[in-house]
Amino acid sequence: MFNTFRHSDYNIDQLGVKGATMESEVERDDQYWMQQALLLADKAEQQGEIPVGAILVKDGEIIGQGWNQSISLNDPSAHAEMLAIRQAGQTVHNYRLIDTTLYVTLEPCPMCAGLLVHSRIKRLVYGASDYKTGAAGSIMNLLEHPGLNHQIEVTAGVLEEKCSSNLSLFFKTRRAQKKAARLKVD
Ligand SMILES: [Zn+2]
Repeated sequence: MFNTFRHSDYNIDQLGVKGATMESEVERDDQYWMQQALLLADKAEQQGEIPVGAILVKDGEIIGQGWNQSISLNDPSAHAEMLAIRQAGQTVHNYRLIDTTLYVTLEPCPMCAGLLVHSRIKRLVYGASDYKTGAAGSIMNLLEHPGLNHQIEVTAGVLEEKCSSNLSLFFKTRRAQKKAARLKVD
């Protein structure tokens, strides 16, 4: 269904970065996985969907991945995070996805943020902020809500420029296409 590979097998020694601080290792891993999520966002774009990609990682392995497919599946819940999490549940045969990190190119919406809490995901890493519907801090913060029974560690802005420029370009192109279609009709 998808390739499983271990990022941890080849990162430290081969790159000659022994002695690097824990923090920079985490940062490097975050960027690596975000790059993979961006490749999934490209798949969404090729299908004419808003380009968002998501990957769920546990112990240095991908256990689920998804890209936005709401239009193609006629399913308003088919967001990248939703599909990645559903696949991960099947992979680990568990409805709790403890000790996992979700990487997603765009800040999750309220539906997906709620799903992250239900899934007991440990950490969320996202690229671009979504100032219209983002529920990881932009319009609300469901992930660190003290009233809920599970809180999720959030790291924002990983490869932010790349993630947000892909989205802006997509919307710009779509607007131009709509305009061209209108002109044709007139
Ligand atoms: Zn969502």
